[in-house]
Amino acid sequence: MRLVLFGPPGAGKGTQAKRLEELLKVPQLSTGDMLRAAKREGTELGKTAAEYMDAGKLVPDEVVVGLIEQRIQQPDCADGFMLDGFPRTIPQADALDAMLDKAGQKIEHVVSIEVPDDNIVQRLSNRRSCPACGAVYHLVHVPPAVDNTCDKCGHVGLDQRDDDQPDAIRVRLKAFHDQTSPLKALYDERGILHRVDGTSSPEEVFARIQGALGAGA
Ligand code: AMP
Repeated sequence: MRLVLFGPPGAGKGTQAKRLEELLKVPQLSTGDMLRAAKREGTELGKTAAEYMDAGKLVPDEVVVGLIEQRIQQPDCADGFMLDGFPRTIPQADALDAMLDKAGQKIEHVVSIEVPDDNIVQRLSNRRSCPACGAVYHLVHVPPAVDNTCDKCGHVGLDQRDDDQPDAIRVRLKAFHDQTSPLKALYDERGILHRVDGTSSPEEVFARIQGALGAGA
């Protein structure tokens, strides 16, 4: 299955992608994770991307398109993949169509996880993640059992992303509404868009997504 997870920053795309990976047996391809890895490694691409990311702005299309084009040619993507955070602009969606077209493939489902802006600001400012294993926490709703310590791997010291600061959150939400939201109409016209209410617990949202995909809720 070839699937796109769509939604504003902080809608829970990454959390749902991890669950869907197990259910659908397709890899999660997160451009945000790829860019953060490049930033940590200090590559040229990472340095360029960091300037945009830390300010909450979108990284130029050609950079992320290049990353995805390379990634979907890897053997683990042969039977499908799940895109998390890509495409985010119309040119990215067009580039995705073109690269899939060449291989006689297409996106079959787009799941839009819908969460209002007020909710997003609250979620992102309380988000923390483990730099060692990537586990994600919410200080109020999903706190770690021991303060500042990862439940999954025991690493001490949870990070707040640079772009989860209030100013960057506002810029990211604006980018979502201005540049990413218009993609919904495009996929809706193709009849492959599933709108899912993302305001409840991760378990409930996952059940809704399964229902929408017909994968057994
Ligand atoms: P995310 O983890 O998906 O919220 O992405 C974090 C940041 O990485 C975004 O705010 C952008 O700066 C950058 N980024 C991730 N995916 C894309 C994309 N498809 N297009 C442009 N920038 C992206």
